Amino acid sequence: MTPHLPSLPHRPSVQAVRQFALWPRRLSMRLALGFGLLVSLMLLTLTLASWHIRAMNDLTERFATHDMQRLLRVQSMSLTIEGAGTALLHLMNAPREQRVPVYADVDERNRRIDGIVASLQGQLGDAQQEQTLLQLAAARASYFSAFLATVDQIEADDATAAMHAFADQVQPALAALLKLSNALVNRERERIEEQVRAAQQRLEHLTLWGAALSLLAVALAVVLSLRTTRSVVEPMQQLEAAAKRIAAGDYISPLVVGSTEEVNRVAQALISMTGAISQREQEIERLAFRDPLTDLPNRTYLLKECEGGDGILKVNVLMLLDLARLKTVNETLGFATGDTLIKILAERAKAVLLVQNDYASAILNHLSGGLFAIAMSSATRAPVESLRQQLMQATALPVLCGGHSVDLSLAFGLADSPAGEHVPVITLLRNAEVALNVAKQAAQVFAWYNPAQEAARLTHLGLLSDLRLAVAESQLQMWLQPKFSLQTGLPVGAEALVRWQHPQRGFISPAEFVPFAEQTGAIPLVTNWMLEQGMQTLARWQHSHPNLSLSINVSTRDLQDASFGQRVQQLMLQHGISPEHLRLEIVESGLMQDAHSSIALLHRLRDMGIQLSIDDFGTGYSSMAYLQQLPVSELKIDRSFVTHIEDLPGTQRLVKTMIEMGHGMNLLVTAEGIETEAERDTLKNLGCDVMQGYLGSRPLHGAALQAWLNTLV
Ligand code: C2E
Ligand code: MG
Ligand code: MG
Repeated sequence: MTPHLPSLPHRPSVQAVRQFALWPRRLSMRLALGFGLLVSLMLLTLTLASWHIRAMNDLTERFATHDMQRLLRVQSMSLTIEGAGTALLHLMNAPREQRVPVYADVDERNRRIDGIVASLQGQLGDAQQEQTLLQLAAARASYFSAFLATVDQIEADDATAAMHAFADQVQPALAALLKLSNALVNRERERIEEQVRAAQQRLEHLTLWGAALSLLAVALAVVLSLRTTRSVVEPMQQLEAAAKRIAAGDYISPLVVGSTEEVNRVAQALISMTGAISQREQEIERLAFRDPLTDLPNRTYLLKECEGGDGILKVNVLMLLDLARLKTVNETLGFATGDTLIKILAERAKAVLLVQNDYASAILNHLSGGLFAIAMSSATRAPVESLRQQLMQATALPVLCGGHSVDLSLAFGLADSPAGEHVPVITLLRNAEVALNVAKQAAQVFAWYNPAQEAARLTHLGLLSDLRLAVAESQLQMWLQPKFSLQTGLPVGAEALVRWQHPQRGFISPAEFVPFAEQTGAIPLVTNWMLEQGMQTLARWQHSHPNLSLSINVSTRDLQDASFGQRVQQLMLQHGISPEHLRLEIVESGLMQDAHSSIALLHRLRDMGIQLSIDDFGTGYSSMAYLQQLPVSELKIDRSFVTHIEDLPGTQRLVKTMIEMGHGMNLLVTAEGIETEAERDTLKNLGCDVMQGYLGSRPLHGAALQAWLNTLV
């Protein structure tokens, strides 16, 4: 019974992504951390490189200013030593007069050796070298004494002794000196080579470190950018997919939230947005498919669910329930009471369907006003009949509304699909409406639809073409039903009712052809004919029965014709009728259809002095407040309120209110269809003014009418 409308808004669930504990949750933090690490690494590389470059710089400077200088000095010392021997040999061979410049040269060389030795002392920075230098100084001393000894021999012009001294003393001393000097040179060279190697090594280290750090930075940058990109792109792709799913109406699939706070916030926003959209969608769906008063599904839902292609609901029976007299309740007891009745009927019907398992799949719908539908599936009519009876029982108890007891009387229209045939629910609905109308017209509680009813409808359509002929050939008759004062019992007038004696079909009730003549616009033919007959009757009555009025039924269609008033006036003039004896009855429901122009016409008729009556009051849609604006003078309470009124306290209250309201508006109140004395007495007690019904008299024609009229004279 309960329709499958969603009740709670859907929201996507959240599925968290696994992540490292130390990995920051915020994307900005991740980016800051990543870039911070990269910048730190770059700074470290740069610092290291600049530190090494400075060290290399110092090394080069020291090399240029100290080490190379020292090497050059040591090398120059070796050369000087070599030259000193040659210079001495030169001296030995030089004649005396040429010795002075040679002495100067030799002295110069010796001084230079001394100078270099002195300058190197304490500057070598190497213990071994310092030791060699000391030995060199000692060798220099022995060379010098050998030199002096040789010079002495030269000065003594003893060439042989000088040669001996040179060969025995100077040459070994010079050789020792040269050896030491060369040792110094070699060692210095070695040291320089060592330093160059160390510098090269350092450069290599620097290059290695720089490359390693740069590689590390690149690797870190790659890892960080990959991770960061992944932590943004993947959740973004998932969010994009989720957004597409949401756009397609899927609000349930879980949303995978990312590992970053920013993405999570977007996901959360998406989730809230989805919730809001889903809620709004459901609200729209609820408004579209549910009736707000009863919270039951409406006609749109019924048609959609049953015909919606997927065939969710297999329906082969449709039951229409119509709450009788709802409009009257609305008008007399107020719309709030009417709404209460609708809600109570909905609750009672729901309860009946809930109690019985057999009806679990049946759907109760509220179509409009007091009209409900139950769509169900049943192989036979028996369970449907049983359901209808249970609904009758459930609604038998009157409803107490604001101190009033109101009856919930129902009319049912039922339609089913013939066995083995699929009838669309829209057709079932239309058939059930036809059946409901048949039930109402026949004053029965229910009617099943049968194709004969449809055939009858078609026959009516056929009848219409005969109607024009009927008017021309006088197949129509005017019957009069007398109306009596309930206070005095005296006749006050009569209502003119049309009858059709069809040459082939026999008697046709106006209830059969009038509604169809109205629908097809042929009703003015009937009205004109009845007005003509009615005027003739009134013209006769002016002499014989001047106190009687005559009521003629007028259709809404007639009121749509602006010349209607003129026609009536012409007829009255033609027949010399005084207008106060003519009453025009207008069915209440018809007044609402084209209210504006109809009201203007009613005012013109009233201004002509014609009395106007509201017919079948209580079955239409007008409110009492609306009726107040109409220039009417009589209210005719519909027969459905009168039947068995003596047993229906709720209806009595309703009718009493209607009468009081009518009197409040200075209207004459007539009760239609009084068949029993009990009904008459009850209505009299309720304050009703006039009665019309079989109890007083059936509609009369011809001799019977004349006989009745004769009794009045
Ligand atoms: P209505 O105007 O309400 O007329 C009263 C109907 O109730 C008449 O039915 C009458 O025969 C019937 N009736 C009166 N007293 C009783 C009673 O005690 N018991 C029962 N069961 N019925 C009673 P009728 O003549 O069949 O007319 C039906 C409806 O057709 C009328 O209802 C009226 O709406 C319409 N109609 C009749 N004649 C004309 C006409 O000339 N023009 C138009 N436009 N409509 C007409
Ligand atoms: Mg009438
Ligand atoms: Mg009536």
